[in-house]
Amino acid sequence: MIPYGRQSVSEEDIEAVVEVLRSDFLTQGPKVSEFENTLCRYTGAEYSIAVNSATSALHLSCMALDLGAGDILWTSAVTFVASANCAFYCGATVDLIDIDPATYNLNVNDLEKKLEHAKASGRLPKIIVAVHMAGQPCEMKAIKALADRYQVSLIEDASHAIGATYQNGKVGACAYSDLTVFSFHPVKIVTSGEGGAVLTNNKQLAKRVELLRSHGVTRDVNDMVNTSEGDWYYEQVSLGFNYRITDIHAALGISQTKRLDEFVARRNHIAQSYNQAFSDLPLKLPKVANGNISAWHLYIVRLDLEQIHADRKQVFDALRANGLHVNVHYIPLYKQPYFIEKLGVDASRFPEAEQYYKEALTLPLYPSMSQADIDCVIETVGSVIGSFKT
Ligand SMILES: *Cc1c(COP(=O)(O)O)cnc(C)c1O
Repeated sequence: MIPYGRQSVSEEDIEAVVEVLRSDFLTQGPKVSEFENTLCRYTGAEYSIAVNSATSALHLSCMALDLGAGDILWTSAVTFVASANCAFYCGATVDLIDIDPATYNLNVNDLEKKLEHAKASGRLPKIIVAVHMAGQPCEMKAIKALADRYQVSLIEDASHAIGATYQNGKVGACAYSDLTVFSFHPVKIVTSGEGGAVLTNNKQLAKRVELLRSHGVTRDVNDMVNTSEGDWYYEQVSLGFNYRITDIHAALGISQTKRLDEFVARRNHIAQSYNQAFSDLPLKLPKVANGNISAWHLYIVRLDLEQIHADRKQVFDALRANGLHVNVHYIPLYKQPYFIEKLGVDASRFPEAEQYYKEALTLPLYPSMSQADIDCVIETVGSVIGSFKT
C-alpha cells in the first residue's frame, strides 16, 4: 500500500535527537531558540515562537489578537477543523467562506461580498484565517487589502505551506498578515514529531504569544506588576498554557529544516510528473497560480463526474483496493456534527465546497517516494480512472 503522505527521517535527524537526549536540557533548553532562529532566517519573519502543535499556535495567535466572546472568526469552508477551533477555544464564533474551485483556497470575491454584507449588518469578523490549502498560497495581496479596508486581523494557516513562495516572498514572512502558523506534524512538509510555530513581524504580538505559551508567567521585570523580590521572583500576569515544544522535538525540526528546500523541490517534481501523466484522464488537476511555488503538501485531483460513470466513493474504493492509500481532504467544516451543533450552517451557502467534496481525492505524494512508487501511482490511477470513463 502506498500511503498518501509520510515523513522522511534521516540518520542525521536521528543523531540530532539522540544528542539532545544526552545533553542537560530535554525541554526549555537551547534547541528551542535555535529552531526559532532557523525559522526566522528561512522565512524572513522577525519573530518566531515554536510551540507543541499548529493547533496551539492558532489558539495563541487568536489570544494575542484578543479574540473573545462576541467576536467572529472567518475561515475557509474546506480546511482541517483546527483552523476554526481556535475561535471556539476563545469563546468566539465562526463563519465560513466558500472556496475557489481551481485553487481550493478561500474565494476572494466571496470574501469581498461577505465583508460588505457583514459591515452593513454590524457583524464584521475580528480575524480571518487564510488557509494555504495543499501548500498553495492564498491571494494574500487581495486578502490583505480587504482586511485593511475592513480593519480585520489576518492569520495565515500555513500548516501545509512551509517552503512555499508567494510572489517572490517565502510563506511565513508575514508580508501580508499579522501572524503565520506552521505545523510540524509528520505528514506535513517538515516534522518535529508534533510541533508548530507562530511567526510575526509585530513585537507586541510576539511577546504575547511567548508569554501565553508558558502559563502567562514572566521573569522579565519590565512585564511585572510588582517590584521583583529577588532572583527567584516570577509573576503570572495572564492566563496562559503549557504549549511548549521540547528540545527533543526542536532538534528534529532544526535537522529537518535543512532539507526543506530539497523536500519542496522533490514534491514539485512529483506533482509535475502527475500533471503530465494525468492530462488526458477525466480529472481536474490542481493548478498553481502564476508567480507562486506550492509546497505541494497534498496532490488533490477532482473527478470530472460528467465523464466518469461512478461517484467519488466508488473511485476511492477502487484505488484503495488497488494498493493506493488515497484520502479525502477535507470534509467541509459545516458538515461536522460539532459545527452543525454550534453554527447550524446551511450547506447551500457553499456551492463550490459542496461540489468539491463530491469530486476531491488526494493521491500519494511525499519526498521519499521512489520512481517505482511514482510509476505505480501513475499506472494505477490511469487504469482505475480509465475503467470508469464513459
Ligand atoms: C495539520 C493542520 C493543522 C493542525 O496542525 P497540528 O500541528 O497537528 O496541530 C491546522 N490547520 C491545517 C490546515 C492543518 O492541515
